[in-house]
Amino acid sequence: MTPDQPGVQIRGNAGDDVVRPFQVEALDVRGRAVQLGPALDALLGRHDYPAPVSKLVAEAVVLAALLGTSLKFQGKFILQTKTEGPVDLLVVEFRTPGDLRAYARFKPEVIAAAEAAGEATPGKLLGKGFLALTIDQGDDMQRYQGIVELDGATLEEVAHTYFRQSEQIPTRVRLAAAELMVRENGKARRHWRAGGLLAQFMPAAPERMKPRDLPGGDLPEGASIEEEAGEDDAWQEAQATVGTIADIELVDSDVPVDRLLYRLFHERGVRVFDPTPVRDKCNCSRERIAGILHQFTAEAVEQSIENGRIHVTCEFCGKKYDFDPAEFLVRPPDAADGADEPPTGDDPPEQSRPGD
Ligand SMILES: [Zn+2]
Repeated sequence: MTPDQPGVQIRGNAGDDVVRPFQVEALDVRGRAVQLGPALDALLGRHDYPAPVSKLVAEAVVLAALLGTSLKFQGKFILQTKTEGPVDLLVVEFRTPGDLRAYARFKPEVIAAAEAAGEATPGKLLGKGFLALTIDQGDDMQRYQGIVELDGATLEEVAHTYFRQSEQIPTRVRLAAAELMVRENGKARRHWRAGGLLAQFMPAAPERMKPRDLPGGDLPEGASIEEEAGEDDAWQEAQATVGTIADIELVDSDVPVDRLLYRLFHERGVRVFDPTPVRDKCNCSRERIAGILHQFTAEAVEQSIENGRIHVTCEFCGKKYDFDPAEFLVRPPDAADGADEPPTGDDPPEQSRPGD
C-alpha cells in the first residue's frame, strides 16, 4: 500500500457471529459490522415467539451486539424498551466479552391482530414508550443510562436519536433480520439470520461534527435541509454509502461482513480490526435465583409455592429451577447481620423481570 493509494486491508473472512470493527480513515469514520447466524438462531430457538416478534428481537440483538462490543471494560450493556405497543417489554443483554440473551413480553392475540392488520413491523410492535440503553460496569461502578422516547420509529431511527442526544456523535445504523429457509439432508429448515452496521463520524477536529452555519453546495438526494445541509462532506458521503446497504446484504451468508465492508468502502480504503465473537449465552444460575428468592418476604415466598415447591423459569433462556420453599422461609444464619455479603446485586427476580 502506498500513501496515494487507498489501502484495503481485509484479513480473511470474519464469518458469522463476530462483530468486526472497521475504520475508513479518509472519511473519519469508525464503526462495527456484524452478521449473526447460529448464535441468533439458538437465541431465538430458546423462545417460541411469533415471527414478527422474533424479527424485532433479532434486530435489537444486532443493535446490542454492535453497541455492547464497544465496551472497553468488563460489564454489561442492556437495551430495554417499555412501551404500550403489542410488545410492551423487550430486553437484550450483552455481557462482555460477547454473551447475548434476550427476552420479549407480549400477548399472542395482540400480535396476531397486529399481523392481520399489517401492523407487525418492528417499530409498530413497540409503539409508544421508551428505550433505555444502560452500561453497567459492575458493583462499585456508576451505571450510565441513556433514554430515548419511542413513537413507532424503527430501531435504526431510535439509535440515531440516541447518539444525537446522548453521545453527540453523528451515527448511522443499519439493521436487518430475516427468517430464511435452508435445505438440510433433503429437508427444509427455517432459521434466523440478522446483521447490522454502525458507522460513526469521529474526526480529529470535533467542530467538524457540528453542522456548519452556511449550507454549502447542493443537497444530496433525499437530504433534508435541517439535518444534512450543513454536515461535513466526508460524513455526508459516509451516510450515503451506508444508505446503499440492502437488507439482504446484511442477512445473506454469501455476503459476509468483510465483503460488505469492501463493497462499501474499498475506494476510500477500509481497515478492519480483530473481531469479537458473540454467542447465545444466558448467565442465570441456581445461586443467583436463590439469592433473589432470599430477598422475598415470607408472604411472597408463600405465594410462590406450587405443589410444595417453588418453580422459577428464566425468562431469557427458559431454564427451569426448582426449590424447596423451606430454604427461603428461614433466614440463613450467615445473612443475619447482613454485613459482609451484599444481596445478589443488581439482578431483579428473573421471574418477574425483565423490566420493573
Ligand atoms: Zn437463563
